[in-house]
Amino acid sequence: MPELPEVETIRRGLDKFIVGQTIQKVTILCEKSFRGDKKYVEGQKILKIDRRGKALLIQLENNMWMMIHLRMTGQLIYVGEEKFAAGHPDGGFTEKMPGRHTRVYFDFGNGFQLFFNDQRKFGFISVMDELGIATDPFLTKLGPEPWDMAPDDFYNMLQRHKNSPVKAVILDQSNIAGVGNIYADEGCFYAGILPWRHCGDIEREEADKLLEGLATVMQRSIDSGGSTMKDYVRADGTKGSYLEKFAQVFRREGLECPRCGGIIEKTRAAGRGTHYCKGCQK
Ligand SMILES: [Zn+2]
Repeated sequence: MPELPEVETIRRGLDKFIVGQTIQKVTILCEKSFRGDKKYVEGQKILKIDRRGKALLIQLENNMWMMIHLRMTGQLIYVGEEKFAAGHPDGGFTEKMPGRHTRVYFDFGNGFQLFFNDQRKFGFISVMDELGIATDPFLTKLGPEPWDMAPDDFYNMLQRHKNSPVKAVILDQSNIAGVGNIYADEGCFYAGILPWRHCGDIEREEADKLLEGLATVMQRSIDSGGSTMKDYVRADGTKGSYLEKFAQVFRREGLECPRCGGIIEKTRAAGRGTHYCKGCQK
């Protein structure tokens, strides 16, 4: 599943290519994947592309918006003078477009196109007006992102969930936005906290370190390009892993801890596969 850093990578990548272009035609191949009326989109210039949590928001000249959720298997593939592909890493990155999993695509009238692919159809594009954006249940319940959260607010938020495991609390998007499974494990490792500890037992200093860790690892992931085509599909067609660039514990079970040389272990916490080092995390 694309996490916040990957979605931010997509936003930055698409920003270069689609802002300023006019959408001439919307082709909907799967009704479920496009909510709203395409008449508000066709003929409209793209003013900007924003992101809130893992949702992309494309603003059109008529002040309508398209909100895009990639969910489990969504991809966005731009084919113009250059190709840009990002999102769920599968064969769609290298297939001819429209591909097997293309659900919606946009023609810019100059031969350039943007494709929304989604194998499992959990993702969608939703056409909304300003009021829709202001009242959308997903957007309104999103907490702040780690770099927008003051240490006091983060600590107080943890204290409101005294009896819950810290990993479950930071995964809840209404508490803090954008922390997925990878970043929860990496943030806990950074802060030296075992992920299943209850928030009520987290000291102020540890909370500060955890917030710093979440922001740091997510920023590192954004800087390394998230799950873009170039990182995931090598020239020979094999998949690479952008995780290699920053992950210290995630999917490294059985390997040496880069900090203490102990062995990284994997268990379940907060209902998710959880990676940790018992030498470094208390
Ligand atoms: Zn260690």
